[in-house]
Amino acid sequence: MKVTEHINKAKGETLFSFEIIPPVKGKSIQELYDNIDPLMEFKPPFIDVTTSREEYVYIDRDGLFDKKLTRMRPGTLGICASIKHKYDVDAIPHVLCGGFTKEETEYLLVDCHYLGIDNVMALRGDAMREEKYFEPTKGGHHYASDLVKQIQQLNCGNYLHEVIESDNCADFCIGVAGYPEKHMEAPSLRNDLKRLKQKVELGADYVVTQMFFDNKKYFEFVDAARDMGIDVPIIPGIKPIAVKRHLQLLPQVFRVDIPEALIEAVEACKSNKEVRQVGIEYCIEQSKELKAAGVPVLHYYSMGKSDNIKAIAEAVF
Ligand code: FAD
Repeated sequence: MKVTEHINKAKGETLFSFEIIPPVKGKSIQELYDNIDPLMEFKPPFIDVTTSREEYVYIDRDGLFDKKLTRMRPGTLGICASIKHKYDVDAIPHVLCGGFTKEETEYLLVDCHYLGIDNVMALRGDAMREEKYFEPTKGGHHYASDLVKQIQQLNCGNYLHEVIESDNCADFCIGVAGYPEKHMEAPSLRNDLKRLKQKVELGADYVVTQMFFDNKKYFEFVDAARDMGIDVPIIPGIKPIAVKRHLQLLPQVFRVDIPEALIEAVEACKSNKEVRQVGIEYCIEQSKELKAAGVPVLHYYSMGKSDNIKAIAEAVF
């Protein structure tokens, strides 16, 4: 079922969902299940599965190093299929511009269609670790809006190199990313919102936000988006702080601010166990306020471990 249908069916009640990351190559999928299992009692209608960018590795061949491109966390689509099969919930693969040609994207979408996947999250992807800026892959898309266009075209039977009239066309519900504190490369929040509007005009059905720690920023973002005519659901994505290092890491990687009160509470902790508890309590308050404001879904970035998300969900749902 489409995310938008889940939201309509809930009739104003806030739904619970979360995002998971595929395991590193060579690890068992069981660890993933062990972290999903405890969250299933909160009845997530959908679970997102991220896709990682490829990266360079250096292989020592008797002192000479071979530079090879590899993906450390492959398996997004396989995990989506297994989640759908095991838990009978909708699984949403993240589809990236970076690292994929348009043809590879088309084949991926065809696989999604055959697997009965109804939703895809269309993203540009970050720059590779070795790059300062995002470089489009040769034969691939530059912006998420181009990817949205391709998916929407496929929904109409327009493949890249042929138009196929069929009564079995894909009908993907398309999610895209939004940034309450603006995307790091955007010259202004308003300009970034214009780009978001473009994605919606091209066919995006809903937005999931980057994490934020100050609900005011989300509320202002939604107001600004509505003023601009963006009328699709805007799902808040949130994450509990779990270790002290997050105070530096999250602003650096995601360009988000952390409120003073949360910084002080984390800095006062004597161990990461205490930090985890502070993160849980803060996220519970954040979630309760968002839920009271009537957000359609509370979407949690689980980053692999679910004990803190379970504690939050128990207090909120
Ligand atoms: P875009 O919408 O393409 O925007 C990128 C930048 O370009 C923005 O600054 C925008 O303002 C600007 N822009 C857009 N269109 C134009 C244009 N026509 N001309 C000039 N400028 C333009 N990354 C992963 O690698 N894997 C994941 O699984 C993943 N999941 C994510 C899930 C969510 C909910 C979010 C919020 C992010 C996720 N990301 C993921 C990170 C994402 O890929 C990065 O934030 C990336 O840098 C931007 O992606 P985007 O889809 O927002 O890009």
